[in-house]
Amino acid sequence: MRILITGGAGFIGSHLCDRYLAAGHDVIAMDNLRTGSIDNIAHLAGHPRFLFVNHDVTHYIYVAGVVDRVLHLASLPSPVDYLNYPIQTLKVGALGTHNTLGLALAKGARYLLASTSEVYGDPLVHPQDESYWGNVNPIGPRGVYDESKRFAEALTMAYDRYHDVDTRIVRIFNTYGPRMRADDGRVVPNFVIQALKGEALTVYDHGRRTRAFCFVDDLVEGIMRLMEADVDGPVNIGNPMEITIVEFAKLVIEVAESASTLAYVIPDDERTRDDPKQRCPDITRARELLGWEPRVSLRDGLAQTVAYFRQKMVTA
Ligand code: UDP
Repeated sequence: MRILITGGAGFIGSHLCDRYLAAGHDVIAMDNLRTGSIDNIAHLAGHPRFLFVNHDVTHYIYVAGVVDRVLHLASLPSPVDYLNYPIQTLKVGALGTHNTLGLALAKGARYLLASTSEVYGDPLVHPQDESYWGNVNPIGPRGVYDESKRFAEALTMAYDRYHDVDTRIVRIFNTYGPRMRADDGRVVPNFVIQALKGEALTVYDHGRRTRAFCFVDDLVEGIMRLMEADVDGPVNIGNPMEITIVEFAKLVIEVAESASTLAYVIPDDERTRDDPKQRCPDITRARELLGWEPRVSLRDGLAQTVAYFRQKMVTA
């Protein structure tokens, strides 16, 4: 098949490029490199079945020839990024989704939207299953991201119902692994780099909040299965092993064999306003419909992530 991956030079997008190429498909990675990096796909340069297109998906998308699958990953999913680029975040979720759906319609391609656990907002239901409608503040700092993805889901379902585009929606929960951006501000790169430098780990809000972290290889396997499965409606993909941020910080220090300590800090208001108190996926649908569940433990995934950032720091 010929597969278009928007955000193909990003953290998750680049791993999808690798896996689809390894499965024998042709891959077009589209990215405007605002937060994606050419380093993530540099190893694919010259690959006979790989094409990189530098394009901003909020503008009309032209792709010559056949396209069988469209995966819309382009996004600014880090809280630091969507606080810095709120309008671009809304545009890539709204206009970018519209353009990619239009392309899928024109090409007769199957379409997958990368949505997010943020559609559940600061959830009042725990763990979150796909039937929960969420608790989102539309005008808060996270609203630009959350609402753009909620709009993107609505638009995807509209194209499915009214234009008969064959669509899939994956709701991605916190994912980590090699190729995360060192400066994207999220807890995994922050803590890993702080631990490797021997600096104190910046734990917000006494580390009471919880998250559940999925290793990128597990996520990519789930996305690829979902794309080929006969499934209607959104599917959560994540690792249901929930952990408090303070426990997570201690695990990072242990895995990195670091002498770092914890610093309980109060970040600026905007950074943590509406920060969900707890988050954990209910993955019953993924288990039953895709026969999928995460295989990589947090300890093993963190070891690979630590090795990646250690290597990056040596070569930087
Ligand atoms: N966090 C933290 N220290 C950091 C970065 C994040 O304690 O240096 C916390 C943050 O407040 C949140 C959790 O870690 O409760 C996960 O944050 P992240 O930015 O990774 O993504 P989110 O899950 O909020 O989208």
